[in-house]
Amino acid sequence: MRELSGNMTSPSRSTCLALALALAAASPAYPWGVEGHKALAIVAGQNLTPDARSHVIKILGNDDLGSIAVWMDELRSAFFHTGPLGSDPDALRFNAEFPENGQWHYVDLPLGSKEYDPGGAFSNPHDVVHMIGEAVSVLEGGGDRRITKREALYMVVHFVGDEHQPLHIGNGFYDVGADGSVKLVTDPGAAKGLPNDKGGNALFFGPGRFDELHAYWDTALVGKVTGTEDPAELAKALQLKVAEQGASWKDTGDYHHWAEQWATQSLSAARTAYAGIVFGAETPDPKGGIKSIKITLPPGYDDACTPVAERRLAQAGYHLAELLNAIHWAD
Ligand SMILES: [Zn+2]
Repeated sequence: MRELSGNMTSPSRSTCLALALALAAASPAYPWGVEGHKALAIVAGQNLTPDARSHVIKILGNDDLGSIAVWMDELRSAFFHTGPLGSDPDALRFNAEFPENGQWHYVDLPLGSKEYDPGGAFSNPHDVVHMIGEAVSVLEGGGDRRITKREALYMVVHFVGDEHQPLHIGNGFYDVGADGSVKLVTDPGAAKGLPNDKGGNALFFGPGRFDELHAYWDTALVGKVTGTEDPAELAKALQLKVAEQGASWKDTGDYHHWAEQWATQSLSAARTAYAGIVFGAETPDPKGGIKSIKITLPPGYDDACTPVAERRLAQAGYHLAELLNAIHWAD
């Protein structure tokens, strides 16, 4: 889910935390949808080494990564004591301990950024890349002592998925004219301080509340990969991709930095997600920033972007397994 997190990116928005949470709780949309997150976690589960699997089983009691894939998103409604975790003591404790956890799912980089830079002007210690690192530290016996190993596993499984969603990384910044016309700014040097579209959440191609670009990538494009909403069906299709292409997705070097490379890949995919979009009138947010921008998607958008969504989902499953196979589990 990116809406809540988007609502918390600026100080003016964060002052309206309660409203942001209310909006998030009312939203049915999850990043990559529940379907995408579960499917990529199933794929990861199919690609674990026996050693990694034994550590997962020790922590979870089973190796069903799909079943924990959206715990981090379900925390949002748990803030309001609703949803599947509404009366879950662990979820309530986690939210009380980390009320800012909505910010952990993304980072907002200008589309022209060369790469994700962990110390750069647009990254921060609570962004999705840093939080994958934090969770890995916990699984390796260090990190924040308030996070249990089970919760750290929830975090890794979810956030590796999130960061492969291009719009959790790439983001539009805009020069807004006095007449409400907008110009997309991709150059990081020029984008700093400009209002952004919250990972596409503010880009509306239709009149409906969920007719926006972020949700389109979360759910609509995911559904088009197999034509179903069944995570098991999608996982089958993704596993085929992994079998065909996984060897070319292999990471090298220190696994503590792999998440940075995956973010850079999402940045490149995000440029495809924004390619050809025509930007119309902007509506300002009374609290500051951009409330919405009308957009028109170019012809052939689904044909260009569905394969990208499929590849990023398959890569997420593959990379998640790769990471779980690489880490030095504390127990
Ligand atoms: Zn998320």
